[in-house]
Amino acid sequence: MQIAKVAGFAETVLTRIRDATIAPLSSKQLQRRFTRQEVAELVGRSRNYLAKIEPELIDSGALSEVTEKGAARFEVKHVLEFQDHFGTRPWRNSELDEALVLAVSSLKGGVAKTTLTTHLAQHLACKGYRVLIVDMDNQASATATFGIIPDLEVKEDDTVLPFFEGREETLAYAIQNTYWPGLDLIPTNLTAFNIEWSLAAELMEGGADARNELLSLLKDGIDTIKDRYDVVIIDCPPNLGTTSMNIFRAADALLIPTPAKLLDFSSTVQYLRMVDRYSDELGLNEGYKFIKMATTLYEGRLYGDQPNQQMKIRGIMQKIFGDLMLDAPFYKTSEIENAAASMTTVLEDRRPQKKALDMISRFCMEVEAEILQTWPSKQKEAFEIKKALKQYTDDVE
Ligand code: ADP
Ligand code: MG
Repeated sequence: MQIAKVAGFAETVLTRIRDATIAPLSSKQLQRRFTRQEVAELVGRSRNYLAKIEPELIDSGALSEVTEKGAARFEVKHVLEFQDHFGTRPWRNSELDEALVLAVSSLKGGVAKTTLTTHLAQHLACKGYRVLIVDMDNQASATATFGIIPDLEVKEDDTVLPFFEGREETLAYAIQNTYWPGLDLIPTNLTAFNIEWSLAAELMEGGADARNELLSLLKDGIDTIKDRYDVVIIDCPPNLGTTSMNIFRAADALLIPTPAKLLDFSSTVQYLRMVDRYSDELGLNEGYKFIKMATTLYEGRLYGDQPNQQMKIRGIMQKIFGDLMLDAPFYKTSEIENAAASMTTVLEDRRPQKKALDMISRFCMEVEAEILQTWPSKQKEAFEIKKALKQYTDDVE
């Protein structure tokens, strides 16, 4: 039996399953709705004031018609329109602050890289930041989350490949708007596997200068477009191939997800060692603006007054890593699992379940504060978020 034959069947099955389960791109719409109180918090004006000014703004065309009834009837676009009207967008200062390129990176698959990427990107987009996700994992789960079926709707030339091959001068051609206002995506699919191979081959052949150029391709590409964004988030593949090497150079900051389990953590240790070993060659001597470890898929809880295994492991990690670890764990929840099963996220639910939303918001706000801290003009805002986070009490730990 030839593998090609099996692969052929498998592709057909995949297409059929996808046709049966995932709605095509054109029909995926953002369901999330906000109450006026939620809008008020995101916009930075009082609820009453928004209610008063709403008809006026709709008349003048500054605010889109609010077509739905009920308490939660505002869409993300309304939040952004209000922010635009009041000048309360949280954008970085383009003179003082540089767009931050954040890689969500780990050696392992299944540790919630993509889940963090999509939820963080959507959290930031809700708040009014300009966000780009660069999907660099040829499994393309981030791409699929945005309603794009990787192997049917993404062509090789829609990915970073043409830029890597020198056929495009900038990465602008690859940017796709999503149904999230303010959130763009550079998609990928399995054909981006070619990058891995061709880069590896060229790296073997080339001299030091050529190597340097090849390892800088993604950074050079992102540099051509990052001025349009506040944050660029790279969803990484679960290995340390040539794509990852490009990502390490392109990134200004790293978010490293690791479950609090012995095997997962030992692969994180291995991963850090490997990256360190190649850091000279990768040109990483300058270091990153921040590196943060995130405890993902967390199920730490107390049994009576006894911590379970994950709690213990997380406790040890916290002791040793200290500030390198985010305070808020990213808990395992059935809401995230269910959302993922239908290729969506909790933040896309019409009304996200409160407990899951609080957990995600708390986690994302901590990362947001780190991002703001890298911007000289946003020190006060970073401090405010950190202060607000102190008020969350963690009922599990
Ligand atoms: P990676 O990108 O590292 O391979 P994913 O983000 O795809 O990992 O997550 C792996 C699996 O775990 C997915 O099925 C995802 O839905 C699930 N998952 C991730 N985070 C959570 C969570 N907090 N709660 C429940 N399921 C989760
Ligand atoms: Mg992934």
